[in-house]
Formats: sequence, C-alpha cells, structure tokens
Amino acid sequence: MDTIASSPTISTGTSARWLSRRSDGRLYAEAVPLSRIARAVGTPFYCYSAGALRQNYAALKAAIAASDVSICFAVKASSNVNVLAELARLGCGMDIVSGGEMARALAAGTPPERIIFSGVGKTRSEIRAALEAGLHQLNVESAAELEVVASVARETGIRAPIALRVNPDVDARTHAKITTAKKDSKFGIAIEEIPAIYAAASARAELKMVGLAVHIGSQILDLSPFRDAWAALADLVRRLRAAGLGVDRLDLGGGLGIGDDRHAGPDLAEYASIIAETVGDLGCALNVEPGRWLAGRGGALVSEVLYLKEGDGAPIAVIDAAMNDLMRPALYGAQHPVLTAEAPRPAGKDAACRLVGPVCESSDDFGKYEGLGTILAGDFVVFDNAGAYGAAMSSTYNSRDLVPEVLVDDGQFRIIRRRTNISDALKLEEPESWLAGDDPVR
Ligand SMILES: *Cc1c(COP(=O)(O)O)cnc(C)c1O
Repeated sequence: MDTIASSPTISTGTSARWLSRRSDGRLYAEAVPLSRIARAVGTPFYCYSAGALRQNYAALKAAIAASDVSICFAVKASSNVNVLAELARLGCGMDIVSGGEMARALAAGTPPERIIFSGVGKTRSEIRAALEAGLHQLNVESAAELEVVASVARETGIRAPIALRVNPDVDARTHAKITTAKKDSKFGIAIEEIPAIYAAASARAELKMVGLAVHIGSQILDLSPFRDAWAALADLVRRLRAAGLGVDRLDLGGGLGIGDDRHAGPDLAEYASIIAETVGDLGCALNVEPGRWLAGRGGALVSEVLYLKEGDGAPIAVIDAAMNDLMRPALYGAQHPVLTAEAPRPAGKDAACRLVGPVCESSDDFGKYEGLGTILAGDFVVFDNAGAYGAAMSSTYNSRDLVPEVLVDDGQFRIIRRRTNISDALKLEEPESWLAGDDPVR
C-alpha cells in the first residue's frame, strides 16, 4: 500500500468536521475528547457523530430540493438502529437489502411507505414480509424474481408495487469491487430486456408497475457516469411511455462518493444539476439512496497501539483493531485518513508508520501513514471516514468480539451497541440433539 499523509485538518465536503483537534492538542468528537471515550468504553470502538449525520442529510436535501428528490438511506452502510433513528427522525427513508434490514428500518421508526427493498436475491419469506409490512416499493432485479413476487402477491392478496432495476451498462469508474452496472454485473436487468418485461408485468393484476431503478456503483467521485446512467433511464422512460406504459417513479440509486485529504469530494450542486438535466422534466417522483455520503464521514474507528516492532522501511505498530473490525482496506485497498487522539509527538528518524492488526492474515494491514509523529504503545489511533461499511461489515473472525458503537451528540456520548463477548458466542454453539439422517424432513 502507498504511504499516505495523515492530516488533522481534513476538508471533506460541505459540512464542518465533527472530528477536530483543539488547542489542547487533543482530538475531539464534537465536544468530547476521543481519548475520554476510549477510556470509558475500551478499544477498539466505532464513534459516530449525530451532528454530522444531521448536517449531511440537511446539505444533501437542500442541494436536491429543486428537483424534489426524496432520500432513502442505504441501511447496509451503517445499520445500527440508533443511527437509523437519527435519520428517520429527519424524514429520511430507508433503502434495504434484506429482511433483517427491514426489521431495523421499522424498529428505527421509519414509516413503511418510506422503505424501498433492493437486492438481487430476496427470498420468498422476505418478499412476503415486505408486502405484509406495506413497503413503498420492491426493486426487482430479474424476470425470475418478478415471478416469485407475483406468486407471493397472489398468495397474500397484496398487490406488489414494483420498480425494475435497470442495468444500463455504464462503467461507474470506481473500484472494480464496487462497480455494479456493467454488462457482466450480477445486478439488475439488461436495459434492452426491460421493455418486454415491463409491458408483460404491467398487464398482471397482482403487480403494480411503478417505475424504474438504477444503482451503478459506490464511491463515485467523477459524476459523469451518473449522467450516462440517468440519461439512459430517461430514454427508457420515454420509450415505455410511448408504448402506453405508466412510469411514475425513478430511483436513481446511491453511490455518491466522499472526499478525503487526498481527493476532493463531489460537488453537490453538480450532482443536483445532473439530476435536473437528465430526469428532471419527466414528471416522475424521484429518490436517491446514498449510504456512504450520509454516514461515511460521520464516523471513526478508534484503536489502541499494542506493540511496536521493526519493519522494512517503516516501524510497524500492531494495533488492537483488525480487518474483522474494518474490512475496507483488506477488501478494497481502501485507505482511511489516520489521526492520533492526542497531539502528535515529533517524528523520529522514520517519517512513516505502518499500522497492522492482530488477525492471522497478511491482508490485515492498514498501510503506511505519514504525519502521525512518533507512535508509542498505549497511543490511540483514529481511522477517520469510517462511518460507512465499517461496523456494518465487521465479523468475529479469529473469535474476536464485535466492537462497541458510540454515538456522540455535542458534549455527550452513549454506547449504542455493546461489545459482544465470547460466552454469548459459545452459547450459540451448544449442540442440539442428534437427528437421524434418514428421518423424513418435516
Ligand atoms: C449499496 C447500495 C446503495 C448505497 O451505496 P453508497 O455507495 O453507499 O451510496 C444504494 N442502493 C443500492 C441498491 C445499493 O446496493
């Protein structure tokens, strides 16, 4: 991994930073020193800013207000029910990809009519639960899935509100592992197959065809792929309407990227004008599904340095957070800006320090960072921009606990998920009685 410079003065878009170094040298989460939280809850832990979530939602909402675009938060980015509740209180809807996420969105107080169910592999029971809950819309990703939705709709007697997810064959020009709309992608229905499927589905009484959806990828910084995808969507709407079919809603997907100390964030005004220019005059109800943009910059992972050892070219700090806690560096080669919780010490002979976790995998390596000064055991290091796809992607690999999540609001903080412990894990592994292999399946 490349060396990156860590800077305490990161500017990442429109909102004021919730994480800031004050004149006492310490890093504050809103008005609370991060080291204070670290001592109270132990490390590693995730820390989120309620203020940042509110600010980000307000900034996006204001930017796209002219086109009257509603916002559904992609729950998979940060699924703690308390985080969802902060957003739901603001009127934010939710984009879900599983029955579990539906339960979280509802528990957070999201009205069902503000929930959209996306995802390429919904099960029959998830579809049934979605229809019974009265969700706003199911985004269907294949003809086969449409058949199952129709069958569940007949069974339950509930007419299913359907948007077809279109694969527009557009390269989002982002990391290959978060590109979702090229021809070979598993997501969506090829754009040329949509008219026939949409027409046939529109004739079925158990389905209510409400519109189309796209989602082309994630962490998109160059906005032109959005223009290509939404222009293709607009053409498709015109074709469907010319064939006498109703298209009332367009779901424009998520994917809006966030900047860091090396890359500028996308320009919200440009994002808004691309929406207006491509789909603004169709008279459709519009919505977007950002995950990372709303939550990414509003969270950090805090870890303690356990050991220092000699490394090749840079000292290695073994920290108590690992790839199971923050998977993005191992999965995508992502680099998060890293800061120290206390004022950085002057650097010694080595400008850079390499941070690695305790997990027994070579990929449990967060990369080399400059600007951290001399690091000692017991220091707290802070991975910034970890509010999306951080805790939500974590696992217990190596039988490690899931780490706590903490929410800060101005001068207060509270634990919003407790650390798991191994006795809970072992309870799930208490064996049940043997079943004979030739027993008839009930
Ligand atoms: C993951 C996902 C999103 C959110 O993506 P971000 O890059 O976090 O904005 C939105 N819609 C769908 C269908 C997704 O799968």
